[in-house]
Amino acid sequence: MSRVNLHYLELKDSYLFRTIDRKTTEYLQEHPGQRLLRLGIGDVTLPLAPVVIEALHEAVRDQADKASFHGYMPEVGAPFLRKAIAGYYAKRGVQLQEQEVFVSSGASDDLGDLLDIFQRGIDTLLIEPAYPAYRDANVMAGNNIISLDSSERDGFAPWPDASISADVVYLCSPNNPTGAVYSRDKLAAWVAWAREKDAIIIFDAAYEAFIQDDAIPHSIYEIEGAKSCAIEVCSLSKTAGFTGTRCGYTIVPLELVRNGASLNAMWVRNRCTKTNGISYILQRGAEAVFTDEGQKQVHEAIALYKANAGAIMEALDACGIWYCGGRNAPYIWLKAPGGMSSWELFDTLLERCQVVGTPGSGFGDCGEGFFRLTIFGSPADTREAAARIKALWG
Ligand code: PLP
Repeated sequence: MSRVNLHYLELKDSYLFRTIDRKTTEYLQEHPGQRLLRLGIGDVTLPLAPVVIEALHEAVRDQADKASFHGYMPEVGAPFLRKAIAGYYAKRGVQLQEQEVFVSSGASDDLGDLLDIFQRGIDTLLIEPAYPAYRDANVMAGNNIISLDSSERDGFAPWPDASISADVVYLCSPNNPTGAVYSRDKLAAWVAWAREKDAIIIFDAAYEAFIQDDAIPHSIYEIEGAKSCAIEVCSLSKTAGFTGTRCGYTIVPLELVRNGASLNAMWVRNRCTKTNGISYILQRGAEAVFTDEGQKQVHEAIALYKANAGAIMEALDACGIWYCGGRNAPYIWLKAPGGMSSWELFDTLLERCQVVGTPGSGFGDCGEGFFRLTIFGSPADTREAAARIKALWG
């Protein structure tokens, strides 16, 4: 008999988005003609930057000509894109060798696949509420999950707890779902904790491009000593609208060595075994993101999303509602007014404002009483939603 991985049976069903769908469908059936303002969207809505589209077209033309045609690409990424990504880090003072940069088809893939280079059954620390894929990938791997709850008191970005040890910790800044960011001091404390505990930090920087405060690190490698204890996973999904196009990157420093084994060499071996590289066409599109013009264009799109954040934050400020996020992240994590539960606030916003968001309790127990709004919706709908929230509680 085949011995399948029974850890899959330990995975919890996610009722969150199914329940949201059911409640909104029922509401629309009972209120025909009502239009909902959807602020729960976790996907980008603006198209790819023109400079990316141009590069994609040019790459398609390359593939049409024998002289410029590309077959299999290197499993670890095209040299031109590894160089462009290393150049992007260099602008922030982080020096990377090109062989430390691995091109991926998105952050989700690598956040789970990276567990391949650790033994099964390791201790993994998750800071709750957390992006659900961290937990599920670790459950599938049969790992022991330790939770550290974040809260309003620490701004949903906790300091490390010296009494906790783990092999791996996932840190996400800017955070999904809370929009919280880790200050330089907090990240330095986490790097010191990891070095002390001999743990590896998997730093999820998927939303780094949304950071607008200069003091907030975009990369864990802005912290001294991080190269010996951290892997960084990033994505062009939200920063450059690549959710449906797919491209990301992972940094595994050469300094990262455990038990005499280089994690960089292990990851090279893993990629060469489990992937056959990312499409040439997509990598050319991704390369365009890192040009000066590409950066200008993707930040114009981010500025449009940020204007949505401004409208929501202004409404919450007027209502005296506590929140974090928004300023440096595409998520706003607010405290339900009047001691309501997350689902009570969901129902109230749906029925009284026709606004749909995401209950915080869906991201773990310590999200109870909180609620996530995103800034990826249309400007008109977001402004209208903000005005209705302000009218209700302002
Ligand atoms: N990490 C976080 C925190 C996310 O919120 C997401 C997507 O929503 C991802 C990673 C996955 O991004 P990708 O589209 O690159 O797989």
